[in-house]
Amino acid sequence: MFRSRSAVISLALILGGIVQPTVSLISLGNITSLIYDAKEINYGRHTLLDSYDFIIVGAGPAGCVLANRLSEDPTVTVLLLDIGRGEIPLFTDSPLVGPLLASTDYNFGYETEKQQNGCLGLRGHRCSWAHGRGVGGSSIINNVIFTRGNRRDYDGWARAGNEGWSWNDVLPLFKRIETANIRDFGDNGFHGTDGRLSVEDAPFRTDIARAFVKSAEAAGYRYLDYNAGDNL
Ligand SMILES: Cc1cc2nc3c(=O)[nH]c(=O)nc-3n(C[C@H](O)[C@H](O)[C@H](O)COP(=O)(O)OP(=O)(O)OC[C@H]3O[C@@H](n4cnc5c(N)ncnc54)[C@H](O)[C@@H]3O)c2cc1C
Repeated sequence: MFRSRSAVISLALILGGIVQPTVSLISLGNITSLIYDAKEINYGRHTLLDSYDFIIVGAGPAGCVLANRLSEDPTVTVLLLDIGRGEIPLFTDSPLVGPLLASTDYNFGYETEKQQNGCLGLRGHRCSWAHGRGVGGSSIINNVIFTRGNRRDYDGWARAGNEGWSWNDVLPLFKRIETANIRDFGDNGFHGTDGRLSVEDAPFRTDIARAFVKSAEAAGYRYLDYNAGDNL
């Protein structure tokens, strides 16, 4: 029952992105109440042990990867804890739905202190400060865009005394986790080919996207791989 309802909603959302008026037909309240009522994935019942070799608090991307890697050793016991809910098939998988999930309890929903110069259109001049809550962490509500930092940030962290955090230190690790399928920059030496994380271009480009890139180039910006250390 839930699967077919959610499929209809997902389809409506996709169409809503294309045909703007459709959005107004979809009530945010209805969707969020659907999400609240939806059945989470059944992870199976496991009996808690008296003790564990590793206890990981927080099942965000970091905690999940850590638990996955540690539990590859069958002799090791791992407990992964999260304060939030489990995943809901389709809803928590699609980046398209992320912004909607940010309106549910998949988001801690923090607000900043009152701002003097920002968020002036928001209640009390307080910015929304999204932070994912549940199995998947902020990847439940994020946009699933693969973005490495700028090399200067990493080098700054290394200079501040964090050994192993320079761009040259982290680049081999970025490459190791990645299987890149990137049209224009895949062979530039900054990408991996056999990691577990698949990274690829959006499968199509619209005329507007092409025009956007062209006009940025005309304005003097370089068309570059923003994951190769320099973002601009
Ligand atoms: C709106 C938004 C959009 C984003 N877009 C992108 C993007 O497009 N691309 C990108 O690469 N990154 C994006 N990010 C950033 C990315 O999601 C985070 O860098 C990433 O999720 C961090 O992973 P993490 O495991 O370190 O922490 P988190 O994802 O924050 O996970 C922390 C986990 O800990 C749990 N937790 C917290 N407190 C407790 C507690 N006391 N007990 C038990 N569990 C607890 C939480 O429920 C959560 O599951 C975005 C982030 C946000 C908020």
